[in-house]
Amino acid sequence: LRKSFTSEQVEVVIIGAGTAGLTALQAVRKATDDFLVINGGHWGTTCAASGCMPSKALIEAAKAYHRRHDLAAFGVSGAEHLRADIPAVLARVRHLRDEFVAGPRKVRDELGPRAISGWARLAGPDRVVVEGREIAARRIILATGSSAIVPGPWRKFGRRILTTDSLFELPDLPRRMAVVGLGPVGAELAQAIARLGVEVAGYDESRNLAGLTDPEVLAVLREALGRDLDLHVGEPARLEDAHGAIRVGGAGDDFIAEAVLVAIGRRPNLGDLGLESLGVPLDDAGLPEVDPHTMQIAGLPVYLAGDANGRLPILHEAADEGYIAASNALAETPKQFCRRTGLGIVFCSPGAARVGARHADLDPDATAVGQVDFSNQGRARTAEKNEGVLRIYADRASGKLVGAEMCAPAAEHLAHLLALAMQQDLSARAMLGMPFYHPVLEEGLRSALRAVARQVSDQAGSDLAHCPSLNIPALD
Ligand SMILES: Cc1cc2nc3c(=O)[nH]c(=O)nc-3n(C[C@H](O)[C@H](O)[C@H](O)COP(=O)(O)OP(=O)(O)OC[C@H]3O[C@@H](n4cnc5c(N)ncnc54)[C@H](O)[C@@H]3O)c2cc1C
Repeated sequence: LRKSFTSEQVEVVIIGAGTAGLTALQAVRKATDDFLVINGGHWGTTCAASGCMPSKALIEAAKAYHRRHDLAAFGVSGAEHLRADIPAVLARVRHLRDEFVAGPRKVRDELGPRAISGWARLAGPDRVVVEGREIAARRIILATGSSAIVPGPWRKFGRRILTTDSLFELPDLPRRMAVVGLGPVGAELAQAIARLGVEVAGYDESRNLAGLTDPEVLAVLREALGRDLDLHVGEPARLEDAHGAIRVGGAGDDFIAEAVLVAIGRRPNLGDLGLESLGVPLDDAGLPEVDPHTMQIAGLPVYLAGDANGRLPILHEAADEGYIAASNALAETPKQFCRRTGLGIVFCSPGAARVGARHADLDPDATAVGQVDFSNQGRARTAEKNEGVLRIYADRASGKLVGAEMCAPAAEHLAHLLALAMQQDLSARAMLGMPFYHPVLEEGLRSALRAVARQVSDQAGSDLAHCPSLNIPALD
């Protein structure tokens, strides 16, 4: 009789070699060589192969091409002759993608026999099965990522249904596309594709787009997106066959699309992982309870990190969670780690971002809101980027910054500054005590901080927040 399993024993098994798994690996290999990393599919990580990086490469191409609309205002003529060569745009995306995946792919070769290519399954809290091998592990880190959700009935449209797994592989873009789901991924890609010259209709059942919740910021974002694509928000999208194309219905008129990019969210890759063998309750989505400060599942020697736990599907959180999981997997007693100030950035134009508490979660009576409108901001005007709004939320009693949402120029940078300040527990006043250069977009941030400081009783100080306005944006 041929034995189907070889029995092996290791200290740590990491399942999934994405950002969370590879960060866990970095921490594990500092402490022990007695580990295995198991990964199904390619070893390039979602971020590098089909996520953050190729999407940003496409978005940057769209931004570069779109800039032609501003050139006449700068006194530069001839922009009407510019054309986007979409196959060349996509070839560049793939070229960059290939370079980005090369790094993580090398890890497999470096690990030699400690890397296993294959789909793993749990056979208990201390047992993993892969490729006909059964491995006993003292600790297991699950970092299996997530996959794009495509409703079953939509699969019949075959290759006309795109996800971010297939979008960047296209040799060319269709002439008419629908994007269903305008969360962070859908919103930024829909705008980029439209700006490259594709006729795009964007659908979302919610009117809250790109993960934002502040009605005033959302109004700016919807107007900006509405200039590039047909927006159909507030009703779910319906897809029907239309003689070789897809008829998309929802809010407003139907749209006939050659292809539909489905960006309605991602589901943790846990279905075939054998979580039931852990003997812990699973919720309706099949997820066990995970402590976000230890990444541990119910006191077991099993840790669940990254997109796979369905909590915060963004890269720096996946990396943190991989580190937390590995640190605790190797510790005698799991340690509670603090999590960072929430930060989410959407790379549309103007950029959308949220920091700390969302507007929807705030108590309006306890919150001071400071706002800046960038339409008259000096530096933004010089760059022809004077559009957008930034709203900062602070605790009315203490002046401490608690959150911000924005759709504004340089949102990715302004959001970082605010996140750094919030994590340091700073008040609007404390931030105003720091230097702001001139002329910069950060002066817009300063205006919003001053508007907050004026509403907080103990925020008096030397800053101009408490002086009458001269209506000069650089001073206010
Ligand atoms: C289009 C797009 C754009 C994005 N843009 C941004 C952005 O701008 N900024 C940002 O912060 N985040 C962004 N993200 C999110 C970010 O990419 C993810 O949060 C991050 O990549 C998750 O990493 P991970 O390690 O959890 O999963 P992954 O990198 O997906 O790794 C999981 C690995 O586990 C493997 N696996 C799954 N099941 C098994 C199994 N049973 N056995 C063995 N291996 C298995 C998978 O094949 C995969 O290799 C974007 C995502 C997408 C899709």
